[in-house]
Amino acid sequence: MAGRRQSYSGIPVALVYPNASRVGLSNLGFQFVSQVWNAHHLFSVERFFVETGDRPDHKGFGAVVSEKGNRSLGQFPVIAFSLPFENDYPAVIRALLTNNIPCIASRRGARDPLVLAGGVSISLNPEPLAAFLDVIFLGEIEEADGWSRFLETLASIVAEKSRRKKWDRSELLRFRETPGAYVPEAYRFHYRSDGCVCGIHAEPGFALPVPALKRTAAGERLPMASVEDANAVFNQTLLVEINRGCGHGCRFCTSGWIHRPVRYRSFDQFCRQIAVKDIAGKTLGLIGSDLAGHPQLYQLLEFIAANGAAFSLSSIRPEGLTRQLLALIAATGQKTLTLAPETASPRMKKIIGKTLPDDLFFEKIEWLVEAGIPNVRFYFMVGLPTETDEDIVSVVDFVLNARSVFVAASQSMKRIGRISVQINAFVPKPWTPFQWAAMESPKNLERKIKIIRDGLSSVPNITARAESVRESVIQGYISRGDRRVGLILYDAISRQRRLPTVLREPRANAGFYLYRERDRDEVFPWDAVDHGVKKQILRRIYEKALSAAETVNGGRGANDPR
Ligand code: SF4
Repeated sequence: MAGRRQSYSGIPVALVYPNASRVGLSNLGFQFVSQVWNAHHLFSVERFFVETGDRPDHKGFGAVVSEKGNRSLGQFPVIAFSLPFENDYPAVIRALLTNNIPCIASRRGARDPLVLAGGVSISLNPEPLAAFLDVIFLGEIEEADGWSRFLETLASIVAEKSRRKKWDRSELLRFRETPGAYVPEAYRFHYRSDGCVCGIHAEPGFALPVPALKRTAAGERLPMASVEDANAVFNQTLLVEINRGCGHGCRFCTSGWIHRPVRYRSFDQFCRQIAVKDIAGKTLGLIGSDLAGHPQLYQLLEFIAANGAAFSLSSIRPEGLTRQLLALIAATGQKTLTLAPETASPRMKKIIGKTLPDDLFFEKIEWLVEAGIPNVRFYFMVGLPTETDEDIVSVVDFVLNARSVFVAASQSMKRIGRISVQINAFVPKPWTPFQWAAMESPKNLERKIKIIRDGLSSVPNITARAESVRESVIQGYISRGDRRVGLILYDAISRQRRLPTVLREPRANAGFYLYRERDRDEVFPWDAVDHGVKKQILRRIYEKALSAAETVNGGRGANDPR
């Protein structure tokens, strides 16, 4: 390994986004994490991206490139990965391998960097990458006290390590009382003969489960970042998070569970932190899982428009769309509005816990076209628990009915836009009621996607696209995986084998990780983490889901659904 430099103004940290810079630079989480690291006097951060290939199984994927400078990862005492998506995990392993850093954490010595990670996906379930990481930060980085303590502990370990010729990994035990720190080596997992986890044991002094940190104090810094890079997906956009979490608690959605209680950035706070002079002529990308539920959304948008800026909104629930709001959206030039029905039959709506009536969508489609927004995009999922082909046909019917409304409204406006239909495979996620559910087989997913595409093909003004089923399967395999999954990834990547091929081999045990409904009392790899939602409540909601019963979701606290 290359030697580390010994004198610096702050401890050098290689902050890696394991995907291309055009993606990483447009990711608010990554941008915000860079700011927060750099704001700490003990560290100085250099950002890295993985530039080659868009897919984890792409040959040659893994070249890690610095945003500036030409140091390699091995020259940094600390490497921190920002991990919002499971499909980026193979790039973590590749990044270490291609930089000649021992991948398995326990094999790293005094001259090797400390390797850590944080982010939404790794906080949901740290275990698939546990073998490769020295420590994982669980939860929200904005929880300032917890984050400071994490960094101070990290700095003390780096200082001690730099003094030693031989690295004693028990130094990591210093994280013992650090909130949000998950040290994989301090946790041992025991498995039954059928492969299920039967016990988790923590070293003395380590919490089990480890509470993920949550930002609870009001008035903290608003996560925002200006994207100014011609290569970035959202170039010339100021990304601003105006809400975190969602009180609707749809049964497939992690945002509806782990980010409770729901938090909205107030108009006052927004105005205090957004410099008017900086937004004129810009586009503000407003980010939040429940934009429609923001009590001051109209006020915020009006403020942005009045100050010469445009805005773009991510997917929004239809309840929040008033004619007044749509007129404002249209006036600032937004050409497409995204709505996410997810499914269409009344039975499936009840099962997933998103029971918005078709007529509500149709009404809003009419309104948005009349307001001057020419296009609409729909998100749907296939492969939901208990879903039948009849339910899939309902999706086609929904879109065709929506199109009738869309065309009629467009005719009166004398211009017709497009309806885009985006189809995603359902991937069961930890910390949701559907964490027990089996994932649909690739064959069935492809067949269901085909039903929708065939039903909509050759219909004017409609485009239907589907996410790669292969990528969804990789995501599903990793999402609910354990350390053994990490070692399968490692083996595949170090031998330059394609993941979809490896997942079809018996040793990958895909049936166990993907296509199996979990037992009621099964111990999950992510039971070592605590996001403040009780497992028995998730289980109760899962059982209600299977009988298409509704639950009440208020979003006021972690465990309020009944
Ligand atoms: S409405 Fe449902 S799917 Fe959308 S963010 Fe909220 S909980 Fe998730």
